[in-house]
Amino acid sequence: MSGFGGDSDRSALTTRHNHGGRTTMSKVGFIGLGIMGGPMAANLVKAGHEVIGCDRSQPRVDQLLADGGKAAASVADAVRDAEIIITMLPDSPDVEGVVLGEDGVLANARQGALLIDCSTIRPDVSRRVAEAAAEKGVRALDAPVSGGEPKAIDGTLSIMVGGEADVFAAAAEVLDAVGGTVVHVGPAGAGQTVKAANQLIVAGNIGLLAEALIFLEAHGVDTEAGLKVLGGGLAGSTVLDAKGEKMRNREFAPGFRIELHHKDMGIVQAAAREAGVTIPLGALVSQLVAAAQAQGDGKLDHSALFKQIAQLNGRD
Ligand code: NAD
Repeated sequence: MSGFGGDSDRSALTTRHNHGGRTTMSKVGFIGLGIMGGPMAANLVKAGHEVIGCDRSQPRVDQLLADGGKAAASVADAVRDAEIIITMLPDSPDVEGVVLGEDGVLANARQGALLIDCSTIRPDVSRRVAEAAAEKGVRALDAPVSGGEPKAIDGTLSIMVGGEADVFAAAAEVLDAVGGTVVHVGPAGAGQTVKAANQLIVAGNIGLLAEALIFLEAHGVDTEAGLKVLGGGLAGSTVLDAKGEKMRNREFAPGFRIELHHKDMGIVQAAAREAGVTIPLGALVSQLVAAAQAQGDGKLDHSALFKQIAQLNGRD
């Protein structure tokens, strides 16, 4: 799939690929400079945008300054003059607080500004944010991302965008600076629904990769060789490529934290229930993620789901 505008028979499914070029510069207010937001903001600076960032962690703000951005003392300072506002926050209450809260984004953004929320949150919250933004004359998109820290650094994230088509078009320049595959998937909230499906698939993949690795280890197989050949066949996956070696070496530094994936499995399960859809494998892996969280592994990478599978087998 390629070409902004897409085929006429796929008008609601528009794909762009990042060609690295740009034509205009925007003033971007960026709130949430964490594992994902930090490198995304840095890539916007590299692409020539003026980025003014805000985070409640000072080292995160210092990193943006080192990357060529500017520091805002508050959300209000970050958004007041911004044409584009990006939020990259952990969870739904964070986005509600920062965007809808007193002295938040909507209280300070200028008319016609474009709000792009890249956080992974509940689809219903994204819809509510879009409605509240429209009342203030602010255009909004939900644009959650996939690809983790490596793709955030490379500027090649997969971005699933919900909102009006003309607003998506207006966000092209900025989204292309941080994304490799940027797809308009439908109206407000649709980006979050697709992201929930993404998290379902990733959790299931991680769980099965962990089981396969324990299985191979129990048989005394050379797991480096085993994963190499599995990666070249139908069992190959981005998860296997990104997490296989880390599981082999028991390296679980985040990356994407278990606590965030636990949050996302809650979103998937609620959204499935809302649609009357049953996700039995999703329910099982949700419980394993919940167990990892309950056992104190919330700050580890989601590949640490491996530890749950190992424990079930009396291994480590
Ligand atoms: P993170 O915790 O590293 O970053 C969030 C940042 O937001 C932190 O630096 C925090 O200090 C800041 N913050 C929180 N509340 C704030 C507030 N009120 N004002 C200012 N700053 C505030 O998390 P992350 O890993 O970057 O994830 C961000 C979002 O992206 C989450 O919704 C996550 O599910 C999603 N996501 C993460 C990954 C990943 O691999 N880490 C991948 C895809 C999507």
